[in-house]
Amino acid sequence: LPVLAVVGRPNVGKSTLVNRIIGRREAVVEDKPGVTRDRVTYEAEWAGRRFKLVDTGGWEQDVLGIDASVAAQAEYAIEAADAVVFVVDAKVGATDTDEAVVRLLRKAGKPVVLCANKVDGMSGEADASYLWALGLGEPHPVSALHGRGTGDMLDALAEALPEAPAQTFGTAVGGPRRIALIGRPNVGKSSLLNKVAGEDRVVVNEVAGTTRDPVDELIELGGITWKFVDTAGIRKRVHLQQGADYYASLRTAAAVEKAEVAVILIDASETISVQDQRIVTMAVDAGRAIVLAFNKWDTLDEERRYYLEREIETELAQVAWAPRVNVSARTGRHMEKLVPAIETALDGWETRVPTGRLNAFLGELVAAHPHPVRGGKQPRILFGTQAGTKPPRFVLFASGFIEHGYRRFIERRLREEFSFEGTPIHISVRVRE
Ligand code: GDP
Repeated sequence: LPVLAVVGRPNVGKSTLVNRIIGRREAVVEDKPGVTRDRVTYEAEWAGRRFKLVDTGGWEQDVLGIDASVAAQAEYAIEAADAVVFVVDAKVGATDTDEAVVRLLRKAGKPVVLCANKVDGMSGEADASYLWALGLGEPHPVSALHGRGTGDMLDALAEALPEAPAQTFGTAVGGPRRIALIGRPNVGKSSLLNKVAGEDRVVVNEVAGTTRDPVDELIELGGITWKFVDTAGIRKRVHLQQGADYYASLRTAAAVEKAEVAVILIDASETISVQDQRIVTMAVDAGRAIVLAFNKWDTLDEERRYYLEREIETELAQVAWAPRVNVSARTGRHMEKLVPAIETALDGWETRVPTGRLNAFLGELVAAHPHPVRGGKQPRILFGTQAGTKPPRFVLFASGFIEHGYRRFIERRLREEFSFEGTPIHISVRVRE
């Protein structure tokens, strides 16, 4: 298996991050430097990629002193690892010790995923963007403690790892696309699943080697095999008296975390609720491709249809860009439209705009629609680059503070120009002095 080492100064949160990645509570974590006793190796998996994870925290107690031991730790990682997760404390920024490690990492030329930890209390992405200056590529803002951003970071990490052999079993590279079918109780998730799966459904763990997770199902739709993740929670009705909502939302979060695209099912016959909105927000925040499916269409009269449209405009404005299908799990209405909608969303999610095209577009846009003058100055977008995909992430460099409204305008035009349908897009702006 490929080996991944987690390095960084004491107390930046390495062990907490390791716990996040392995999904357990094994590494010893305390809120003071140097408590991880030994270097430990774990086996972990993300997005179907398995790897060995090395927590180098044990080096912190080295008698050499902090700087020397951190450097030694990095050197170890460089020797032993195939890829490195370099953790810095976003609240502290890059210290001299960090810079020293950066030099070692750069010289070694191994893939590095830069992780800006402890963004829980901060506005996150914007605050981590100064770490681009380290020259290690895109900084990934995360909160190892709360889990925020760790999914994206892990995606980057899975990409950085060399291909582990013997992991592909005849399926296409990366395996079938992963769908989370989510929505509040009773919207018709299990009805829809039964309808699309019919008798052809394949429980994934019956297929040798695809995955060991028995809660996923392979389902063929529109001539393509998809992996519906975490379907056990959909099929089995869990009747819990207390905390049912809590467990339902945990399940939803887990499914979204495993998926590439979230199909959000909404009961069209009922008023769109706060719970529906929360589920939408969860999928957007996780950065997944999104399709909205309005179910029970067979029960709608003209009046309800009218009000539904108004509700969608006001209550689901945050995903106005998501493709939408109006279906009935009961009658099978418009089931065939589901796959094209999912494909559209995944396309947008994976789109990469070449830097040249992006800047040609930005140049024209900024010339035609300049930012409003503020305090006698006119901040300008100077140039931009797409830092990542899944979902698309852009970094724009500006000559001054760019107002929220103008950012929204740029986002809207980016969406139109490059057809980012069905995907959240992240834009961070860096001001160059
Ligand atoms: P889940 O909790 O989201 O899995 O919802 P279920 O699939 O268990 O469905 C809840 C209820 O809605 C059941 O009584 C279903 O028969 C009903 N239902 C589901 N889909 C439709 C539909 O398209 N039309 C109508 N009329 N009823 C539906």
